[in-house]
Amino acid sequence: MTGPLLQVVDLKKHYPIRGGLFGREVATVHAVDGITFHVDSGETLGLVGESGCGKSTAGKAILKLVDPTSGTVRLMGKRIDGLSRSAMWPHRRDLQVVFQDPYSSLSPRLSAGEIVAEPLKNFGIATGAEARERVAWLFGKVGLRPEQMAKYPHEFSGGQRQRLGIARALAVRPKLIVADEPVSALDVSVQAQVINLLTDLQAEFGVSFLFVAHDLAVVEHISHRVAVMYLGKIVEIADRRTIFARPQHPYTEALLSAAPQPNPRLKKKRIILAGDVPSPINPPSGCRFHTRCPYAVARCKTEEPQIRELAPGHQVACHLRLPSAG
Ligand code: SF4
Repeated sequence: MTGPLLQVVDLKKHYPIRGGLFGREVATVHAVDGITFHVDSGETLGLVGESGCGKSTAGKAILKLVDPTSGTVRLMGKRIDGLSRSAMWPHRRDLQVVFQDPYSSLSPRLSAGEIVAEPLKNFGIATGAEARERVAWLFGKVGLRPEQMAKYPHEFSGGQRQRLGIARALAVRPKLIVADEPVSALDVSVQAQVINLLTDLQAEFGVSFLFVAHDLAVVEHISHRVAVMYLGKIVEIADRRTIFARPQHPYTEALLSAAPQPNPRLKKKRIILAGDVPSPINPPSGCRFHTRCPYAVARCKTEEPQIRELAPGHQVACHLRLPSAG
């Protein structure tokens, strides 16, 4: 395979709002409004932004749980955005998902062992004793005990259920897992355990993650690179160290300043963002962040900043940031 594992170009997902007697389209929700990024093999890309920024919709459009409005999605070079359900099926093995709420995504009527065995059966990988053996092995890999295979989802804690969801996603040896807020519903101590587990599994199996989260602190330890989204657009994308040490977009700066500081002696200036995220139905003109940006100038209200490369691998959409010379 040449090129990235996942390549997303100008992806959009708009939802029409219908009204009136004839159900005409009266407005459009610009949930995802032209995002471009890639994920390399064995890499984790953190996709971060406040609630309503479109990050989860982007994950769903890539997984084809919703149909993209436009743009292209390539998995291992093969275009998958326009595929029908049946044509998409073979790619499902390579592209798995872990949801935020493992409880609602795990069938309450199946035992934990059956839940993890299901994809093995569906993809014709293993059945019977072979499947059971494989499931027991997977349980060990995600930190569950094989004797827990007979239990039902309600008998597990939140962290254990998420481990179950991860085992199910991993069962078919996918190339990429879209992890949609996988630790948001968990206690902080359990969050760290699940993130460590994902990091270990990546080291062992080489799987890539698109890790969707609303909290920058959560993606810090797992991501190789981070993409920051605001109102349906990516405003900054860079490697983890750059994002956390030298963020260039005012929104990234604000998100970072709001994150808890583990060392209280390292005081940082807290940037308070005014107001809520504006509605994606009628996004602000010019730079979508101008209504909350502490540095906004007149031009920001009328002219939309294009995302530009400031340095190799570091892209920012802000009028005030210019590429470094040379
Ligand atoms: Fe702020 Fe203007 Fe930059 Fe947008 S373009 S982030 S409003 S300074």
